[in-house]
Amino acid sequence: MSATPLRKPSADTAFDVERIRADFPILHNVRPHGKPLSFLDNAASSQMPQQVIDRIVRYETHEHANIHRGVHLLSTLATEAYEGARRSVQRFLNAKEDREIIFTTGCTEGVNLVMHGYGRKFIGAGDEIIVTHLEHHSNIVPWQMLCEEKGAKLRVAPIDDRGEVIQEAYDALFNERTKFVAISHVSNALGTINPVRRMIDVAHARGIPVLVDGAQAAPHIAVDVQALDCDFYAFSGHKVCGPTGSGALYGKAALLEKMQPFKGGGDMILSVTFEKTTFNTIPHKFEAGTPPIMPMIGLGAALDYLSAIGMDRIAAHEHALLEYATEQVSALDGVRIIGTAREKAAVLSFYVGEVHPHDVGTLLDEEGVAVRTGHHCAQPVMQRFGVPATVRASFAFYNTFAEVDALVEAIRKVQKLFG
Ligand SMILES: *Cc1c(COP(=O)(O)O)cnc(C)c1O
Repeated sequence: MSATPLRKPSADTAFDVERIRADFPILHNVRPHGKPLSFLDNAASSQMPQQVIDRIVRYETHEHANIHRGVHLLSTLATEAYEGARRSVQRFLNAKEDREIIFTTGCTEGVNLVMHGYGRKFIGAGDEIIVTHLEHHSNIVPWQMLCEEKGAKLRVAPIDDRGEVIQEAYDALFNERTKFVAISHVSNALGTINPVRRMIDVAHARGIPVLVDGAQAAPHIAVDVQALDCDFYAFSGHKVCGPTGSGALYGKAALLEKMQPFKGGGDMILSVTFEKTTFNTIPHKFEAGTPPIMPMIGLGAALDYLSAIGMDRIAAHEHALLEYATEQVSALDGVRIIGTAREKAAVLSFYVGEVHPHDVGTLLDEEGVAVRTGHHCAQPVMQRFGVPATVRASFAFYNTFAEVDALVEAIRKVQKLFG
């Protein structure tokens, strides 16, 4: 394959990636094996800019207290910061109301909350739940657990050789027993962007609610839950430059109100007697106990940071990186790219000849290039492509074309070693 390089510098200058990189201390502080760091494992967890770190430090040094309960100054400040973060999430997702945003410890907890709060109440024996073959384990296993408990059935929409969900096959799964749909917006293993608006419309035509797993979409593309008309949208804070232990679930108010609480405890009640407990209003009904306050405040700061750059500009820069990387990597002899969907975001999964992905990952690390190897918590995807694992490079807006070049050079070294 011919390798005419894309015009890389122009895209970089327009975006001023170096100015953005200056916000991320870790990119400069760490030199793996004495080499410059090329951090290409953003789909697993992204890095945190100084603005988010500063916000966390300010909370811990000037505002720390428990929320919602105190009348003293610090508790008021902490509550304002926490509820302010909720409004940041609301703006980021363009949700209609801030009470439609529930803080979670991550995407996994968001899916589990919907499984317990909605699924266990409204899904019964013989009912069917539709997922796709692209899902992350955290959007498969909770639904399997529910099916096991209720005697319901999981139906799986297949994918084609590019890694796209076959839409006719998805449509054909619907019948009178279908009660719920759970689909990813972007696949973490392959980068496929699903046509979720279309898939939601198909479900809504039958009155069926849809949960979207947005863990890999929220960091990369502008999300508008009202435009999508999804019923639930879950994502993780640590993949959008926020702290681990943070995340959010969007749910339409009418649905959240019908649901049962996920956990019982303090803060989720209005009154408690041994005879009867009255649950609090949404979102508090779903936030039992003292939440991870600091991580959520960090999450709010992270989303404000991304919005200030602009999700459309982030998406454009990452798209240029992905195109360049796809072209350069596929030009290498014997490298097979897994996942060639027409609409993709920020993920390049591949295989280097017969070399085991773990060996590739280890050798890339020696060159300073951080990638992920393994099944990426999506074993069904690996099974579909007949591979046990892949090497996955995943990009963030702070990555550069030079880092793609470093990746390509490092793969060449692997090939020489095994050639
Ligand atoms: C990472 C990821 C999850 C799980 O997120 P956690 O932060 O581990 O809870 C779910 N779905 C997708 C697509 C992911 O990439």
